[in-house]
Amino acid sequence: MSTSKKTTRTKKAAPKARKATAAPASKAVAALAEMATDAHLTPLTEVAHVPPATGSNADLLARREAAVPRGVASAAPVFAARAENAELWDVEGNRYVDFAGGIAVLNTGHRHPKVVAAAKAQEDLYTHTSFQVVPYEPYVALAEKLNALAPGDAPKKTLLVTTGAEAVENAVKIARAHTGRPGVIAFSGGYHGRTLLTLGLTGKVSPYKKDVGPFPSDIFRAPFPDARTGVTVEDALNGLETLFLTDADPDRVAAIILEPVLGEGGYIPVPTEMWQALRAICDQHGILLISDEIQAGFGRTGTWFGIEHSGVVPDMITVAKSMAGGYPIAGVIGRADVMDSLAPGGLGGTYGGNPVACAAALAAIEAIDGEGLLARSTALGETFRARFAEIGARTAPYRMWDIRGLGAMLAVEFVTDFDTAKPDAAFTKSVITHALKRGLILLACGMHGNALRIMVPLTASDAIIEEGLAIFEAALADAVAVEEMRQAAE
Ligand code: PMP
Repeated sequence: MSTSKKTTRTKKAAPKARKATAAPASKAVAALAEMATDAHLTPLTEVAHVPPATGSNADLLARREAAVPRGVASAAPVFAARAENAELWDVEGNRYVDFAGGIAVLNTGHRHPKVVAAAKAQEDLYTHTSFQVVPYEPYVALAEKLNALAPGDAPKKTLLVTTGAEAVENAVKIARAHTGRPGVIAFSGGYHGRTLLTLGLTGKVSPYKKDVGPFPSDIFRAPFPDARTGVTVEDALNGLETLFLTDADPDRVAAIILEPVLGEGGYIPVPTEMWQALRAICDQHGILLISDEIQAGFGRTGTWFGIEHSGVVPDMITVAKSMAGGYPIAGVIGRADVMDSLAPGGLGGTYGGNPVACAAALAAIEAIDGEGLLARSTALGETFRARFAEIGARTAPYRMWDIRGLGAMLAVEFVTDFDTAKPDAAFTKSVITHALKRGLILLACGMHGNALRIMVPLTASDAIIEEGLAIFEAALADAVAVEEMRQAAE
């Protein structure tokens, strides 16, 4: 695992909380004209399709609370009006730099011009036939593209569906059909979705699994190698071997699934030796290896797929999110012999591989390729590592712990101090809240909710990245000041 604890742990006298430097989010729509200096941006006032004024954020929040179940949580209490690349405006005209990218969906940014143009062109032809009734070329073209991008020399085939959870469910169905075995092994801290089967695979109870069990049988959990909790690769593999002895007969296991970088679980990369050992174990027992690339794929880590960093070739890959730059589409890419395991009619769904989303995905993939976004991801990762280390030492000494990740799939943990390294979810929440007030959208992750993850569009300009980082530092100073006041009052 790559960490930069050395840089973040440098002890330094704690300075007084700095005065905030970044300007607060603008309240006036008129001010957008000034802000929209990039030719790519049109002031909100000039956009013909701006939705009618539907009220303030507060009004909408009240309507939302009355109409939408509270189980659907939102990180930000503001409502979107418009977004462009790495910027978003709310219904009151406030502008935000977006470091969350709609949960890693927007590696190509909000409304990438090529993605939007491709979707619009497709909308002028047909928007739905159901591939199972009348097939269409964009589905086939996207499958061909994904088959070519996926690692490994074996011939591949791709199934398209609509959501990430649906992709994971289908990967499990295919693995079971191919092997004739029921078992699936997932890892602690892993996230694979919110449907009942995928919740069974997801390795985090709160808030996802609370009160909604029982979960499907024949799902087993192995320990994830995490230096943070002292679990080495050797420990994790011993845990897996123990699982084979105690609960999961390896001859009855269809698949092992894991994310190349734990997403919701805290942006912790899978060490290369772990992937290599899993590949060998799978080969030994006839188990299929599935890399869940739903969050890590399409350039987030600096390669098309996160597993490529290890050189290991999986049997199946699940994809979604940034594949289509904001359109709902997901898929399973796999070895052709594996993917053909179900009889006609065994796979599919009314909307699976929607043609508009296929066109958007083809354009997003072209943008990632044509605009050098894989290299951009690597460079952005380096920038964030360096700037986080510097900001942490300057503004919140002994608070920012373990800057980690792969490429621009990067997170930093907030802890109470470096001696105990106790996760501090409350402080993390405070940073996120202050950042939003100042015009930056951030999102947490991790088993203890104390990791701040970076999912900024890879298309964001250096200026926007620096603007976001300046707001982050100001928000961090706010959180430190609030914490110091709280401690003084105790
Ligand atoms: N797997 C991973 C690794 C994910 O990050 C997610 C979503 N965060 C999913 C599966 C589920 O995807 P969806 O929310 O589209 O169902």
